[in-house]
Amino acid sequence: MSDIIQLLPDHVANQIAAGEVVQRPASVVKELLENAIDAGATSIKLLLKDAGKSLIQVIDNGKGMSNTDARLSFERHATSKIKDAHDLFNLNTKGFRGEALASIAAIAHVTLKTKQENDELGTQIKIEGSNIIAQDVISTSKGTSIAVKNLFFNIPARRNFLKSDTIETRHIIDEFQRVSLAHPDIAFLLHHNSNEIYNLRASNLRKRVVAVFGTKMNEKLVPINETTDLIAVNGFVAKPEFSKKKRGEQFFFVNDRFIKSSYLNHAVVSAFEGLLENGYHPSYFLYLTVPPSSIDINIHPTKTEIKFDNEKAIYAILRATVKHSLGQYNVAPVLDFNRDNNLDTPYQFTSKSTTATPKITVDPNFNPFKTEQQSYQPSSSSYQKESQSWESLYTTVEPVETTQQEQLFHQEQEIETGKTFQIQKKYLLSSIKSGMVLIHQSLAHQRVLYEEFLESITVHEAMSQQLLFPVHISFSKSDSEMIQSMKADLENTGFLFESIADEEIVVKGIPTSITESQISLILEQLLDDMKLEVPETSFSHFDVMAKSFAKSLAIKTGTVLSNKEQENLVDDLFSCKEPTISPFGKATFKTLTIKEIDSIFNSH
Ligand code: ADP
Ligand code: MG
Repeated sequence: MSDIIQLLPDHVANQIAAGEVVQRPASVVKELLENAIDAGATSIKLLLKDAGKSLIQVIDNGKGMSNTDARLSFERHATSKIKDAHDLFNLNTKGFRGEALASIAAIAHVTLKTKQENDELGTQIKIEGSNIIAQDVISTSKGTSIAVKNLFFNIPARRNFLKSDTIETRHIIDEFQRVSLAHPDIAFLLHHNSNEIYNLRASNLRKRVVAVFGTKMNEKLVPINETTDLIAVNGFVAKPEFSKKKRGEQFFFVNDRFIKSSYLNHAVVSAFEGLLENGYHPSYFLYLTVPPSSIDINIHPTKTEIKFDNEKAIYAILRATVKHSLGQYNVAPVLDFNRDNNLDTPYQFTSKSTTATPKITVDPNFNPFKTEQQSYQPSSSSYQKESQSWESLYTTVEPVETTQQEQLFHQEQEIETGKTFQIQKKYLLSSIKSGMVLIHQSLAHQRVLYEEFLESITVHEAMSQQLLFPVHISFSKSDSEMIQSMKADLENTGFLFESIADEEIVVKGIPTSITESQISLILEQLLDDMKLEVPETSFSHFDVMAKSFAKSLAIKTGTVLSNKEQENLVDDLFSCKEPTISPFGKATFKTLTIKEIDSIFNSH
């Protein structure tokens, strides 16, 4: 009989390897982030579209690759990180197998751009399903950008197997958190569908933990620091009173690599003995440093498990160290640093009864057959207007020496105050005492709506308009569950539910600020935003909800506003507590003082 064994072609071998390396978009994220770190980057950006299903792009400012290396990086078992078997016992890098890029390129459309510092030009390679489509010399900045599109385009079974965007995004955020917590000295940015999810500045361990999990985390942390011959243990555990029913925030890093270890977890939990209520889990962020030769990280393909040479001793050291620190924590000073105001919700939730049923008002003008048009509805505000900011804007006149003629001019301007013009269906221009103000209509409206919703969710009961015919919306089971869990908060905004069943919810009342056709859009957007938000951070649910509604409902660029609508928007904006920025941190307006305008024309 003839021989039947043959070597698999490379592209087939790569696809098989990909099956192991790339389970889902989050696996690609992990590999690309780790490559960027291995390349010595100090700033790493991760851009996603559709939970990474359409695009995963990692841009770093690391050392880049030469033209030849760029081509080689996609070969299987091509790595710059180890040279021989001996190096395996002394790993200082995240990668070493040299199969990630080859695997990814076998099952996606990949564009690599890279340049080394001293090279004038860089390299661009396009590769689809292991086939090189193009290799070009390009001009690009130092570092590497890898864009991975259409993951699993040639393995439909895999693509169909992917979970909802929500779940895949959750997995990606998990990876992102692990990598960014392991490297507080590197700046990380995460954008999803052009929304900024994280913008982490280079900092220290404590600040990074707080930046990822919210300002409130700062006061919960008990520092852990111990160095022995075998191991150094650094990081934080959360005080016992902040333990959780869910094991969310439990992180071990060994030599800056996230690992899972039920054995070490046991060591930490046992150090909390007697301090935890039954069924509660402590939060911890523990960084262990050991000589690379004393661990074997190779025992698991996705490398989150690890084998220590001195497991028992490490267990004992860890347990004793945590126990000791817990005993000391009430005398340890809390480090003070600038709070990130973005992480705080600017409202008090006290005096708020969550069980109150919202009042119902029926909109007499509601006509289900009327065609709906998006227009700016003046704030139905139940909140007290605080107009100081607006007034102060009008009164901060630069003390300039003026001629009589100029004084006359100033007076005329005052008369103009309040008049607005719309520019390109995008901006509002308004004359003010000190000069002029240019307002971004959509961002401004986001701010107004955000504060209104936040107010109605947290302080007042909002008005509700009853629907003539209840609206049925289908949802997945988990989404319905989520709506159920937010029912009380949603009712505070004016929603009223007839029923919330497994796969369908029936809405019978809606906030006065929305229209019937917007219901499902708003709820869907909200579900997405809630899932995207890291659970159990200090971000409150209310805040996410208010932001989500504001984003869905704000008038968009391209909407024509009547004079009255423009005026209302301007008034409402400057009655806000924080008129200057949108709920997502963008500037809502810019003022130009007369002085600045003068300087344009170089006149006095
Ligand atoms: P590994 O990381 O295991 O070496 P990869 O397939 O992930 O394997 O990468 C192959 C090689 O490509 C790396 O060893 C490295 O030399 C190069 N490389 C990959 N990503 C980058 C990057 N972002 N910057 C510089 N070099 C990179
Ligand atoms: Mg790698």
